[in-house]
Amino acid sequence: MFAHSSRVGSNGPDVRCLDCGQRLLPDGRDGHQWYMVRDQVWDQTSLAPLGGCLCLACLEARLGRALTWRDLDQDAGPINRPSELDAPKLRALKVAAASAETGKG
Ligand SMILES: [Zn+2]
Repeated sequence: MFAHSSRVGSNGPDVRCLDCGQRLLPDGRDGHQWYMVRDQVWDQTSLAPLGGCLCLACLEARLGRALTWRDLDQDAGPINRPSELDAPKLRALKVAAASAETGKG
């Protein structure tokens, strides 16, 4: 359900990937990996709905495939909106999802 389970504080939480241990909210260097995927995608990781966070690479490793914008939870709100702070790959997914969203109807 969630790619993370912590709220973002003013200084940012020290949130790490469960599998590789890298920080998902680094201080502006490598880019944030802060996002939420659909319940059915998270279910495939064998993690509990609020079991923690995974970086993109480790999430893809658990899924056994590349992540696509369709995997992002479209109802998640601002967390899935593109940000300058996002890692480039994640931002590309968010941009694709956002453009698909606005392209509806
Ligand atoms: Zn990782």
